[in-house]
Amino acid sequence: MSTATHEETLGFQTEVKQLLKLMIHSLYSNREIFLRELISNGADACDKLRYAALDNDALYEGDSELRIEIEHDGEAGTVTVRDNGIGMSRDEVIQNLGTIARSGTAEFLQQLSGEQQKDAKLIGQFGVGFYSGFIVADEVTVRTRKAGSDKASGVEWRSKGEGEFSVADIEREAHGTEIVLHLKGDAQEFADDFRLRSLVRKYSDHIEVPVRLPKVETAKDDDGKEIEGSEVTTWETVNEATALWARPKGEISDEEYQAFYKHVAHDFSDPLTWSHNKVEGKLEYTSLLYVPGRAPFDLYERDGARGVKLYVQRVFIMDDAEQFLPLYLRFIKGVVDTKDLSLNVSRELLQQDPQVDKIKSALTKRGLDMLKKLAKDAEAYQTFWNTFGTVLKEGPAEDFANREKIAGLLRFATTHTDSATQDQSLADYVSRMKEGQEKIYYIVADSFKAAKSSPHLEIFRKKGIEVLLLSDRIDEWLMSHLSEFEGKAFVDVAKGELDLGEVENEEEKQAQEETAKAKEALVKRVQEALGEAVQEVKVTHRLTDSPACVVLPEHEMGFQMRRIMEAAGQTLPEVKPILELNPEHPLVARLEGAEGDAFGDLAHILFDQAIIAEGGQLEDPAAYVKRLNALLTA
Ligand code: ADP
Ligand code: MG
Repeated sequence: MSTATHEETLGFQTEVKQLLKLMIHSLYSNREIFLRELISNGADACDKLRYAALDNDALYEGDSELRIEIEHDGEAGTVTVRDNGIGMSRDEVIQNLGTIARSGTAEFLQQLSGEQQKDAKLIGQFGVGFYSGFIVADEVTVRTRKAGSDKASGVEWRSKGEGEFSVADIEREAHGTEIVLHLKGDAQEFADDFRLRSLVRKYSDHIEVPVRLPKVETAKDDDGKEIEGSEVTTWETVNEATALWARPKGEISDEEYQAFYKHVAHDFSDPLTWSHNKVEGKLEYTSLLYVPGRAPFDLYERDGARGVKLYVQRVFIMDDAEQFLPLYLRFIKGVVDTKDLSLNVSRELLQQDPQVDKIKSALTKRGLDMLKKLAKDAEAYQTFWNTFGTVLKEGPAEDFANREKIAGLLRFATTHTDSATQDQSLADYVSRMKEGQEKIYYIVADSFKAAKSSPHLEIFRKKGIEVLLLSDRIDEWLMSHLSEFEGKAFVDVAKGELDLGEVENEEEKQAQEETAKAKEALVKRVQEALGEAVQEVKVTHRLTDSPACVVLPEHEMGFQMRRIMEAAGQTLPEVKPILELNPEHPLVARLEGAEGDAFGDLAHILFDQAIIAEGGQLEDPAAYVKRLNALLTA
């Protein structure tokens, strides 16, 4: 036993303390996952050593047979997971096993409620990693030494998983890391050979590094009786130990794909779907891409983890290689293994490599195809859409070339459906288009309800024309990057001239022109009464139930986007709306008959109401109330 020196006791970062407490409580019913997490870390450490040793063979210290070993001691009540990977220096130990470096962690932890089931789900999306050891152990000892360092730079880390941990320098012969779990009283079941083996097979079959357990063999005599004292212990590899993606598709079961996903994605739950492809020819690569079943907590963090695990000829190169997928597919997880890059490729080099761009566009296509396939399963696709729909909506702006493909994957609420669920595709919409309808109509509002009850929809209801109801914050911006789908142009029904194309016949159009003429005098009077507040006043046939509505010029930014940008502190040039009046409405008829102040008041009321119906703010709400009250008491 070597002596420990330079011992110090340090406190866990606040976030770690919180996580430990919540995790132990909420993952109790799923506690066997600790083994998967520790093996996963051991495998990562072996990958990292293999990569580092590419430049410097000496790092192997004469032991290049990478492996993970698991042992247990029933009497002592311990389970040990050991790897001969990269190991850690003292500073790394303090950093990696005492803090959580991911941004947004504190905010994330605040969402946890203390309810076991709910928190288990949330923590799963966060990923518990190393700290999961404390679900089964009341004390954890880590002994490690960085590969290539001298024997005296070993480190021992100990903690009971409460507020603090200790670190000390130790002598350590082997490089790599050994984790000893001192099992809690009620977790002794894990100190069992059979249990450990079945867990390794269940969770870690797909890990390329061999996971070995000791096997005791006893020689037998001629009668088949065990010879006393003849026991020999050998190491037996328990997992499959080949890289899953390198195996032929036909040989891989769904369960194996799912287990592998949990390792690469650091996720607890099953993926929604995956796509495994081997490409040979000009480009040579294998990719295994997954669509997760739920969003990571940092999906919208600027520096949230994204990208694939990159291998070059089966050698792990880096995690989170974000150059292989566009930002709008950042939820996709998986592995790319290629022959087209050099082993010493760096993040900087990836950015300039033309091969990377080619693989990226191929993977983008694969990703989109995978989603298209997933869309055949309506329920699974709905889950996908609810989880990642807003991310996919970034696509048309980012990826011009694939706009049409992405558009096909978008889902919308429409006037055709009753609920706010966004589940209608553009293809569905097009298949229901009216005879003579040439455009795809949509409306943007702050909420589904506001969109659905907008006065702008009145004529569309009357004519039985479907309208897409958009209410996500990103929607107006999205639509500004989509000009058409299957050759049909998109039209915002609250902007520009209303054009229903062939859905309206000549007679109707003529009647509208005549009405417009007949109301010219009224229009002029309203315009004078409202003055600078409006750009123009018109009569309209958009409306059937409402007396008036406001419309924006065709290329103007919409009301919703304006509000979002103003809320973000931007000052935008003022835009004046166009007021449109419904000539059939009794209030408009009344307006026509009014004189003097009564006329001005009613004109203002109609205008203000139209602004309110649009979700807008009145410049002078008190004046509106006063005028309305005057009208009500007249
Ligand atoms: P993750 O694996 O998602 O990074 P973990 O909590 O599982 O998070 O591990 C935290 C960090 O501790 C790892 O990123 C790694 O740097 C370090 N680590 C954990 N286990 C090992 C190990 N066996 N060998 C080397 N480093 C390790
Ligand atoms: Mg881990």
